[in-house]
Amino acid sequence: MDQGPYDLLFEPVKIGPVTAPNRFYSVPHATGHGHAAPNGSIGLREMKAKGGWGVVSMQITEIGPDSDFANHPMERLWDDSDLPAHRLLTERLKSHGALAAIELCHGGQRVKNFTSGLPVMGPSDLPVIRPEFPVQARAMDKSDIRRFREEHKRAARMARDAGYNIIYVYAAHNLSILSHFLSPYTNQRLDEYGGSFTNRIRLLREVIEDTRDAVGQECAVALRFSVEDSDPAHTLSAKGEGRDVVEALADLPDLWDVNLSSWPADSATSRFASEGFQDDFTSFVKSVTNKPVVGVGRYTSPDNMVRLVKSGHLDLIGAARPSIADPFLPNKVKDGRIDDIRECIGCNICVASDAYGIPIRCTQNPTIAEEWRRGWHPEVVPAAEKEQNILIVGAGPAGLECAWTLARSGHNVTLAEKSNQVGGRSLRESQLAGLANWRRVADYRNYQLQHKANVQMYLNSELSAREIVEFGADHVVVATGSFWRRDGVGSTHFEPRLNPDGVDLMTPDDILDGKMPGKRVLIYDDDHFYMGGVLAEHLARAGHSVSIVTPHPEISAWTGFTLEQPAIVRRLSNLDVKWQTNLTLKNYGAGKAQFCCALTAVERDEFDFDTMLIVGARSPNDRIYDGLKSELATDRHWLVGDCHAPGTMQAAVFSGHRVARKINGDLLAAENFRRESAILISG
Ligand code: ADP
Ligand code: SF4
Repeated sequence: MDQGPYDLLFEPVKIGPVTAPNRFYSVPHATGHGHAAPNGSIGLREMKAKGGWGVVSMQITEIGPDSDFANHPMERLWDDSDLPAHRLLTERLKSHGALAAIELCHGGQRVKNFTSGLPVMGPSDLPVIRPEFPVQARAMDKSDIRRFREEHKRAARMARDAGYNIIYVYAAHNLSILSHFLSPYTNQRLDEYGGSFTNRIRLLREVIEDTRDAVGQECAVALRFSVEDSDPAHTLSAKGEGRDVVEALADLPDLWDVNLSSWPADSATSRFASEGFQDDFTSFVKSVTNKPVVGVGRYTSPDNMVRLVKSGHLDLIGAARPSIADPFLPNKVKDGRIDDIRECIGCNICVASDAYGIPIRCTQNPTIAEEWRRGWHPEVVPAAEKEQNILIVGAGPAGLECAWTLARSGHNVTLAEKSNQVGGRSLRESQLAGLANWRRVADYRNYQLQHKANVQMYLNSELSAREIVEFGADHVVVATGSFWRRDGVGSTHFEPRLNPDGVDLMTPDDILDGKMPGKRVLIYDDDHFYMGGVLAEHLARAGHSVSIVTPHPEISAWTGFTLEQPAIVRRLSNLDVKWQTNLTLKNYGAGKAQFCCALTAVERDEFDFDTMLIVGARSPNDRIYDGLKSELATDRHWLVGDCHAPGTMQAAVFSGHRVARKINGDLLAAENFRRESAILISG
């Protein structure tokens, strides 16, 4: 029989005593559910098993109360009361043929122990790793080390009893006590656990051996390890100690799960790293060990996956974000439906959810974290009870997602778009430096809609309220987006300013429309997400002399949540973009802007410019909707996406999806989704 091009990806892989059914491996990643939201956590992971992932992993699982990650909602194996949820998860995963993996973790110097109130522990007497918290870790003595090892063993036995097939020892991302002992930066001990490489690796070796003793031959023992740390203070590098660790422990674990540290390096966005960005660092691992290796790199291309296996780089294709964006990626590859893969765009909105400690959100997959609480499936939309004619006005992310969801339920959908192409902001913004992958939001949905017989798409069709009413659809969905304000209203300034005469004033829309600013561009960023910094990069690359001024203490401040902020500073600095922070725009005229201190209002520097580029708030483009309200019954017209409330592209996609489900009669698509419930204990 002829070999299919992707058959290789569906070969079983032996991992110690267990066998993965294929090479698709969903690695541990945060989902914002944690121990207090087990139903959501199970629902999300079960969906990946349904979608064909051969291994599905549980995220960081705290092994005891002195490893308390709160306020990040992690999983727990503190005691037997935690077992039922884990048992249910492993049963569900196995019922779909997947192996269940669990990442046991003691967070060492990285936890805060906010809820347990216990002292933080680490190798040395040093501040906790996130510097904003004024607490120090206590250097562990020998009895602390013994107790930690016992706790880890107990948790490993519990994990085995809960039905997990792969038990992780975690030494990555500076999130684990084992990383802290390994690094001379955090380990300043003078005993047999500190100093030389042999001493610093001792605890890691002991814990791998302990875990094997604890679980026997029932489970595989995996080591999750970062071969390179982007912070040189940590000494790990794929050519130095990172490699030394792999050589020293080569065949001790049953599986190597390798990546980069710290988390911003491992979860780099597409703005800073393209698919396969970890390959150069992790490619040596297989040449050092006889054990299988799994690695990540935002892999979404099955051709690339095959190449990675054939070239002897990886045995298993690891994925966190690609499995969030498309839980059914493996099944689509299996069925040869490559164009149906909903590729991750590398925006890290999922990561931002974790930073907030809330159930995960995804720009590409609006159903993530809604599997249990709203009963949403990423691939299946219930058939409509009654076929209706639906007109959607505007084909940006919100309109496209709404159209695609309604079309799948069987309605007749007409999509009218003003411009000569679909995609809205997803397409427009993808022209900017580093954002090319963002067009995947439009491309995926456009492709799907093109193949639906019940969808009509009209380009160059700017509709007025009158035309919409006359069209006579059963439902009208207005998805006409938003525009950037020119009047200086932004996150810190709510009063409009008058635009003085003689000023070359622009907004991001002007740049996206292809207008050219003058040589010296002054960007006033009162939006604080990516747009100000991206435009600075874009214009600096085009030869402009660019300065950014912002009222916030940092430039592009909200990109801290997407792990990009330090990389943005480095990139803009390399491009010679100048910036000043904590400054509020006071007034400006032709060629000159006056700023004052954002904290004291004291008048500060004056800036010269040719073009002032204001990145502030946006206004919903909802004029048409106003014209419809009096003409159509209230349950027949809907606003979605940025024209409802300007926000992230993720929010727009979600909005389009939710309203489509609502039109389709899904009651949980309204606000009253199912909630996790706590048990009330009296007395
Ligand atoms: P969202 O993020 O909410 O989807 P976008 O701004 O990305 O918003 O997309 C809105 C889309 O609506 C754009 O492609 C725009 O060209 C289109 N649009 C705006 N007004 C009209 C209109 N009157 N008729 C048809 N399309 C419109
Ligand atoms: Fe990928 Fe963005 Fe979805 Fe995260 S939120 S999985 S980065 S598309």
